[in-house]
Amino acid sequence: MRLQNGAVTTTPDARDIICRIAAGDLDAEIVARSDQAIAFLDHRPVFYGHTLVAPLHHVETLPEISPDALAPVMELVQRVAAAMVSALGAQGSFVAVNNTVSQSIPHLHVHVVPRTKGDGLKGFFWPRRAYAAGQAAAYATRLRDALQA
Ligand SMILES: [Zn+2]
Repeated sequence: MRLQNGAVTTTPDARDIICRIAAGDLDAEIVARSDQAIAFLDHRPVFYGHTLVAPLHHVETLPEISPDALAPVMELVQRVAAAMVSALGAQGSFVAVNNTVSQSIPHLHVHVVPRTKGDGLKGFFWPRRAYAAGQAAAYATRLRDALQA
């Protein structure tokens, strides 16, 4: 890494890979870019064409981004999801965000995965469970109270 004064250091680049891709300092298969967001292929796709959409400006998780900054990211997610159908022949897509847990890059990114019936992903992500009696109401109350605060 070359510092501004021209000195060279072996210090590892502290920026996450999305910041480096956004700055053009790390190669990626970029599929779209706007003033505020970037879309590029996940290098280890669930299915071919699996795309990550991220804000150019560094923010770590979904709860931390402002609604104004989120809107252009979701606009690009929407365009990429449409392209999965029109360009890749997928029937639809799966859109997901990991926050902290299972989040491999500490920079907010939205997964857009092309989906087609019978592609084998059924039930892969989310083993389901049942609520015990009264448990759903208790969870709903806790969330409602927090959301009304
Ligand atoms: Zn970043």
